[in-house]
Amino acid sequence: MEEIKLAVIGKGGVGKSAITIRYVQDVYAEYYDSTIDDSKRKQTTVDENSYVLDIFDPPAQDEYSSLREAYRYDTRGFLFLFSLTDRLSFEQISVLHAQLLKDKDSDEVPIILMGNKSDLIDKRVVTSMEANELASKMKCMYIETSARSGDGVEHAFEEIVRCVKSVEDTFNL
Ligand code: GDP
Ligand code: MG
Repeated sequence: MEEIKLAVIGKGGVGKSAITIRYVQDVYAEYYDSTIDDSKRKQTTVDENSYVLDIFDPPAQDEYSSLREAYRYDTRGFLFLFSLTDRLSFEQISVLHAQLLKDKDSDEVPIILMGNKSDLIDKRVVTSMEANELASKMKCMYIETSARSGDGVEHAFEEIVRCVKSVEDTFNL
């Protein structure tokens, strides 16, 4: 079965570990310590093809070293995660994205933009409209998620697989 390595990238506290655990185990882990085991695997079927997704959930607080670490793991798709309740985490995405394109020397890197913690309606500070604007600049899809409720999580992983396959098919990689 084809294996696809993915990485979840974003500021500390946005929910990278909670999203990964929600997807892999279908539970909400409020206090998950990803320093114990930072790679998680799950088998899935997308468009009638089966894959094993190997998800890198970086333990580091430093997002730049997390990116560099992800390259070492031969990451094929990047899930850029911010929290809808943390504006700084949203603003940081553009900087991380620019860094990724520069490092890869390409603007065809498979990416999904995810706005997490959609369940915290009262604490929301980033609108869907501005997130969609950012996604169109990044030429990628935007999906709102909640690791807590599970909303959008399966969808995001399905779309990153589609994105990886279509970019790689286009460029014959
Ligand atoms: P990481 O540093 O990016 O790995 O973030 P964590 O997964 O450790 O999550 C940081 C905090 O945010 C924890 O207290 C989580 O329980 C909480 N959290 C993560 N995702 C969600 C979510 O979708 N909704 C809510 N309400 N809290 C979340
Ligand atoms: Mg974590």
